[in-house]
Amino acid sequence: MEKDIYVRLVQKLYNVLYVQLLLNVACNVSLKCLKKFKQRTADASCPIVVKLLCHLTDCLQTYGLHFSDNTEHNNISSTSDVTDFMRKGLTEFLSLVVLLYAHIFQLSDLIEQNYAALSHNELLKELHVTAKVEMNIGNENGEVDIMPMNWSVEEAKLFIGRWCQSVETLHQIVDNENVEKKLYTPAIRWHAPSLISLPNDYDSLFQYYHKKLCESCKQKPKTPVLCLLCGKFLCYNVDCCSRSMYAEHIWHSLECGNGTALYLNIDTSLISIAKGLRNATWISVYLDKHGEEDKNLKRGKPLYLNEERYSLLNQMWITNSFDQFSRQWNFQRIN
Ligand SMILES: [Zn+2]
Ligand SMILES: [Zn+2]
Repeated sequence: MEKDIYVRLVQKLYNVLYVQLLLNVACNVSLKCLKKFKQRTADASCPIVVKLLCHLTDCLQTYGLHFSDNTEHNNISSTSDVTDFMRKGLTEFLSLVVLLYAHIFQLSDLIEQNYAALSHNELLKELHVTAKVEMNIGNENGEVDIMPMNWSVEEAKLFIGRWCQSVETLHQIVDNENVEKKLYTPAIRWHAPSLISLPNDYDSLFQYYHKKLCESCKQKPKTPVLCLLCGKFLCYNVDCCSRSMYAEHIWHSLECGNGTALYLNIDTSLISIAKGLRNATWISVYLDKHGEEDKNLKRGKPLYLNEERYSLLNQMWITNSFDQFSRQWNFQRIN
């Protein structure tokens, strides 16, 4: 696939998501607030996203589609609430789009980027989208705008009108409730992949897992580990639950992480990186109050999660950059 085809495809999906998110806003705005927004639409300084929101609610009303379902529990009350909601949903989507873009086209600089930290505008720049999608400067009221990608306001309005018309047609031929239910389904929230959340204090983790049985062999593991990708508890590098010559953790890294997995060793607090038949030990993400590790838990001091280390590990996993950090790989014995 060529890069420009990928970007064009992204543009279409971005605009569909844009309208979906706009509909979510329409379902979470009070009629009073909507009235306030509508009074502003003739004003040149009114953000385009608010104009499109008002157009969408007009179209829904025109076609007899009920949209403001729960005005008591709405959480949109200002134009900045609208732009914040839109930006959040679109940024989550773009983080994944850029991650895929970097890997499909093997863009090494981009692969090492921390996508989760990039803003909406920075992500768009990575895709070389030149169209003005967000006006950062804001208008005279200091409001920032979020626009569809490469669509004029008129094109966006046309799409929204046609979409409402199709929903109305569907409304006439199928069960009303189903159509409305689908209409109110919140847009998919896109999250960048991440490691599981860990508790702040190590002791609670240790107390919970040190007596637990392995999910595969139903025995108490000699080396108990927790997969940081999915949270499965299993035996590490032993024969008890090996299959076809390979230890369970190798099978698990294939099934869970396409060959690469990270395991937290419950008895030592250290992290093991398993990549194919290789493995390496990484530092601990749990430190004492002086910022020191307690390898093998010999000192018995309370240990707390070090967010910085855990987010570095998360970043290394997302960018698959363990080769640069772990030079001391051990090769797995085959049972
Ligand atoms: Zn086992
Ligand atoms: Zn797993």
